[in-house]
Amino acid sequence: MSYSCKECDESFDSLRSLHAHIKKHGKYVGDYYVEHYKRKDKLTGDLIPFKKYDQYFATDFINKRNMKKWCVTAPRQEVKEFIIKKFKEKIQAKGMSGGPPSLYLQTSKLPDLDIYKEVFGSYREACTQVGMLPMLGKQLPSNFYDDYSQTPILIDTREQKPLHFDNSELLKLDVGDYGVGGNLYDYTFVDRKSYQDFCATVTNGYNRFVKELDRCRSIGCYLFIVVETAFDDMWGENQRGYKKFNLEYVFHRMREIQAEYTDCSQIVFSGSRQKSEELIPKILVLGKDLWEVDVQYFWNQQLKKDGLARRQTKTKQRVQGYKSANSRKRGIFRRY
Ligand SMILES: [Zn+2]
Repeated sequence: MSYSCKECDESFDSLRSLHAHIKKHGKYVGDYYVEHYKRKDKLTGDLIPFKKYDQYFATDFINKRNMKKWCVTAPRQEVKEFIIKKFKEKIQAKGMSGGPPSLYLQTSKLPDLDIYKEVFGSYREACTQVGMLPMLGKQLPSNFYDDYSQTPILIDTREQKPLHFDNSELLKLDVGDYGVGGNLYDYTFVDRKSYQDFCATVTNGYNRFVKELDRCRSIGCYLFIVVETAFDDMWGENQRGYKKFNLEYVFHRMREIQAEYTDCSQIVFSGSRQKSEELIPKILVLGKDLWEVDVQYFWNQQLKKDGLARRQTKTKQRVQGYKSANSRKRGIFRRY
């Protein structure tokens, strides 16, 4: 393949030599591409900033918000073609065997799962159009909402900061930090991770973690990695933490794990430690019934509902309260 310079028409057999050549025109590579290719955000028409060659030509929007807005406002047929093209490219590039989980979509440049639902009727339908099925395509069983708080939970003796369950027992587990025994055992385990643990595990601890997943797969088990923070709080946590992680890199590594290991593991951001205590018994009791369910997707809906309920009670209290000029200034009564 040859690359020709848009300034002087000279040809080069590699991008590298073209880029070295561009500098001779007294230009930065980024400026050269933006000047000659003018890639524009499909929604706003603003020029897309150049970061890297591959990034530049694979980017159609300045941010995901614009993509989302375009997907729901542009002509439907055009949107469908765009999504299928992007989806196919990603799946082929990563050699994936099925449509990736919602969390993967959320952190990648692909549209979020709800967009597929809106545009294609369902995520399954979008996946079918590229000749595959979602990796986690099952519906949530209705008994997920039952009360499992009395379930006897086995906690691994090496677990550093055990969660509290009404009924629990310390034991050395083969896989993960939490499990269930006896008739309830269904080859399903849970690994609990704090925000810090999670980021460290998928970055510095990547190779070790992947070995653990290989072992889990080889003995026919399934590991739910439950992170005790809300996904949307990741940025805030990172700001507050003493150790800062490169979240883009964390998500990149997370996606690699999801692309490769979704047959024997999935990641769920529970919202908090308390929410983990609610979620983990459900996961352990339902076991295999959840292996192909996108638990994060449904759990998010639950979190949203809980959040809304809390917010409504708060709003009521606010309306009754006295609004001082000072509190108005601080924006306490700002409408959400
Ligand atoms: Zn030139």
